[in-house]
Amino acid sequence: MILKTLGIVVKRMDYGEADRILTVLTFNMGKVKAIAKGSRKILAKLGGHLEPFCLVDFIFHEGKSFYIVTSAVVQNHFKKVHSDIDKTAKAFYIGELLDKFLEENENHPEVFELFVKYLENLESADDPILIPVFSAKILEALGFKPEVSECLHCREKLQPVQNYWDDIEGGVICQSCHEKFGHGGKIDNDIVKILRLIFTHDFNVSTKLKIDDQYKKDVGAVLENYIEGIIEKELKSKKFLKEISDN
Ligand SMILES: [Zn+2]
Repeated sequence: MILKTLGIVVKRMDYGEADRILTVLTFNMGKVKAIAKGSRKILAKLGGHLEPFCLVDFIFHEGKSFYIVTSAVVQNHFKKVHSDIDKTAKAFYIGELLDKFLEENENHPEVFELFVKYLENLESADDPILIPVFSAKILEALGFKPEVSECLHCREKLQPVQNYWDDIEGGVICQSCHEKFGHGGKIDNDIVKILRLIFTHDFNVSTKLKIDDQYKKDVGAVLENYIEGIIEKELKSKKFLKEISDN
């Protein structure tokens, strides 16, 4: 079967003498593993089109354990993302995050579109709000949006007093619930407000919010911890399911 899709390579690995295995986030097939078979002639032709973090028109053949790349044509190189080491590092950070977060062959076109927007923004601006906004939108798209408007426990609207953030349950807990249950760590109300703004506005508006740089970093740190917790939990439950099915 021949499959045509837009895709972005997020990981690339040499395989055997001359082959390359790619992890590709695609528009209509989700995250897939594909192999670029390496006769020198083919790789010489395809090579430049298989760099990570370019928007590429792919044609795959269905193989036994991997898709096989039969054609790859770059649509957007994102030149600055590749020439500026800082931007490259930020692309790798998000690429790794998506690789860990997404299951193979589970289709999330909205995640792909967000990733394209992320790379476009990184190419043209690279504001410190970019990673937090992208992280928030990914969480929302994958069903992990944290609660930032009302208390996770009692569902009361959050008041501008000392509130608490709970990574495990995902969101904010009010003062009296914190006193009752002891969950969560202190969170600055301005951070909660910024999170609320990011979740109520779309990607493009959120990346243009006028926010102090320090707050952008703090919001990023909250989301990063939260995401790491989710990935860890998912890995554990996958391991658990595997153990059950192996027994
Ligand atoms: Zn409460």
